[in-house]
Amino acid sequence: MSDNKFGTHTCPHCGSELKIWIAPPETWWGEILVCNNNDCPYYKGSNDTIANKRDDSRLGCRYAIDPGNEFKPFNLLSWCPTLD
Ligand SMILES: [Zn+2]
Repeated sequence: MSDNKFGTHTCPHCGSELKIWIAPPETWWGEILVCNNNDCPYYKGSNDTIANKRDDSRLGCRYAIDPGNEFKPFNLLSWCPTLD
């Protein structure tokens, strides 16, 4: 059961189903698929790495794939609003 028009994709790090997220218009992503699990080890693990670079923020990276680019994975900075 999925209303995901891109088909069902799961996060390789936590197994959660990726959710469609419509990127802000100022980005060129369009619709992407994102792991929205706050307990995802990929997301959690990214905090330390980025904190070392930018101690003024707590940005992390979520696992995401881009359906418009052959479903290639990339890091989505978590400044993005959370999904429901
Ligand atoms: Zn995940």
